[in-house]
Amino acid sequence: MRRESSLHLAATLGSVYFSARQLRGLNRLGDGYCPGGDGLPSFSASGAGWQIDRLAEAMHPQDRADLGLLLDVAASLPRPLLAGLLRLFNQAEHLRLTPLRLARLGAAGVVYSLYYGFAGPGGTQVRDRLGWDAAIRTHIPGEPVMNQLVRDAAPDLAVDTTEVAAVFDRARAAQPAIAALGLPQRLALLDRLGQVVLRRREEIIARVSQETGKCASDALLGEIFAVIDNLEYLRRHAAAVLADRKMPTPLAMLGKQSRVWYEPLGTILVIAPWNYPFYQAIVPISIAFAAGNAVVHKPSEYTPLAGLVESILAEAGFAPDWAQVVYGNGQIGSACLAQSPDKLFFTGSIATGKRVMAQAAELLVPVELELGGKDPMLVFADANLERAVAGAMWGAFTNTGQSCTSIERCYVARPLYERFVARLVEQTSKLTLGTGPDHDIGSMTTPMQIAIVREHLADALAKGAMQHTGLDWDGVSPAIPPIVLTQVNHEMRVMQEESFGPFLPVMAFDSEAEVVRLANQTIYGLSACVWGGDKAQLERVARQLKVGNVSINNHMITEGNHALPFGGAKQSGIGRFKGEDGLRGFCNTKAVMVDGNSAKIEANWYPFTSAKYQALDKMTVASRMRGLAGIIRFALAGLPLESLANKLGRKGRQP
Ligand code: NAD
Repeated sequence: MRRESSLHLAATLGSVYFSARQLRGLNRLGDGYCPGGDGLPSFSASGAGWQIDRLAEAMHPQDRADLGLLLDVAASLPRPLLAGLLRLFNQAEHLRLTPLRLARLGAAGVVYSLYYGFAGPGGTQVRDRLGWDAAIRTHIPGEPVMNQLVRDAAPDLAVDTTEVAAVFDRARAAQPAIAALGLPQRLALLDRLGQVVLRRREEIIARVSQETGKCASDALLGEIFAVIDNLEYLRRHAAAVLADRKMPTPLAMLGKQSRVWYEPLGTILVIAPWNYPFYQAIVPISIAFAAGNAVVHKPSEYTPLAGLVESILAEAGFAPDWAQVVYGNGQIGSACLAQSPDKLFFTGSIATGKRVMAQAAELLVPVELELGGKDPMLVFADANLERAVAGAMWGAFTNTGQSCTSIERCYVARPLYERFVARLVEQTSKLTLGTGPDHDIGSMTTPMQIAIVREHLADALAKGAMQHTGLDWDGVSPAIPPIVLTQVNHEMRVMQEESFGPFLPVMAFDSEAEVVRLANQTIYGLSACVWGGDKAQLERVARQLKVGNVSINNHMITEGNHALPFGGAKQSGIGRFKGEDGLRGFCNTKAVMVDGNSAKIEANWYPFTSAKYQALDKMTVASRMRGLAGIIRFALAGLPLESLANKLGRKGRQP
């Protein structure tokens, strides 16, 4: 069963698209552009060239063939001639020799993308040393032509910040009208939104499926049902959650009233990933809007659903500026954040989460981060085998494994392990690939993610994992059959890094303490699930898991219940979305105290005198009151203090 095909080894040690000679050419070309120095490695020493397939994946076959030709030339030219060719490339910039300019653009683009953009063995090092962030800045120290290259390659990457600023101006101007609608009116609009989503669901499913590759059932459940369910939660509960609250008032403040009011924050920026593009637009927009905010939504550049969200909101009766959509990549997201929204609600990877948080810190914009996961499933020996296997498959493969809360690691108690794996392999082999209603698993959405799956698989196999299913995957196709792996360990990337693909690595464990340690042995802490028959044991274990969400004898149901808060522990995020915490998270929680319009002068106001100090001291001691005697002591201290304060206050400070 072990699969160590040349294809997968090539993925870690070489390329599925380019020959060893062409890779040599790439390193030589790369060294021409990025020779290193100043503490930076040269291109070849950085190891960035090994990431070439991540770019090649997304290329048109003809462009790949052209690049191969260029790399062959770079491999065969003697070094002085290669240096001459690079010089000619640079002159072509000035001479306007179009074919040469294009060749230069392609060569430099590939080299810079690999060297600065990808986390190769030395790639992270390069970016970290430079403190450079591809998504935020295009200026690289010592590389003045980079900005021009980026503009040449993709003119739309040159961010028009005036347009972004205008979007935020409109949102800010519109927000008071949203607040003035009042909650009942806003909830009525959200109810209409639910009706429109339901009526147009076939169209939405088709668009989502077309842009993501997900199967119809994944789209129906994850993008339509979940959206409707969340709108229903708001309809039923938002009024109670956002209602003014009476709060306790301490005895020392007798006669006053304490309240909390939940008011809109203003303008919310929502930045979304590509895995649930419709849900991740409508749900945050709806919650933020229910709380009275205007929203600017920046979808992923991979799944923009261009025009769809606006059209659905408009049909539900939303004015255009209440929730606007800004399209573009990370630079556009960063430009939106630079407009200092009143809050950033960000969903995406840990790497981008760190970047946006750094940018938000400069502006003191509050952030909520919903980041990646590496969810463990813990199966004890007394678990119901059939249910646990079915749950494991769904939890790992739903949305083609591209859910932040996918099961990414499965730990099974040794006595159950063999039977669990046998049944899992048998059932997984029967799952079907495709996008129709009779299919179980759709295809992957982005070439980058396919490359990560390929790398994780190759890494696991090279380190001794056993692959049981999905053996016919060619390592390139976005239709990845579900892959069950055993003989895995925590040295493998597939057990440590988010794979975000249809993987299910299964590992045996011998004791409760061991499985808790393994489950927590990660930087992630999004969610987890524990399965078995001993309720006390499951709860004991669930309490020890350092995660934001845990399901017992099921998976992802915490996320499915919109009354519950959702969010991550450790590096999986900051803040809580949905439920009471989520709604109030989009509010300015205002503390209010009400006092009477009386002649009373407060004990803690001026003037301070020694007599008052003594009376205040007595009251401070009495304030740790316990029982009736404590209350009497406090009153005995408080009453003389009050009359003294009134007397002193009316007289004012004496000279
Ligand atoms: P990503 O981090 O690459 O991108 C997310 C969004 O951020 C995109 O819209 C992107 O354009 C934007 N962006 C990128 N750089 C930016 C910058 N510098 N400033 C502002 N915006 C920027 O993530 P992705 O690949 O689109 O999504 C997959 C990731 O999202 C996975 O890690 C997954 O676990 C995570 N995710 C988390 C949750 C959750 O609720 N915890 C839900 C879904 C997905």
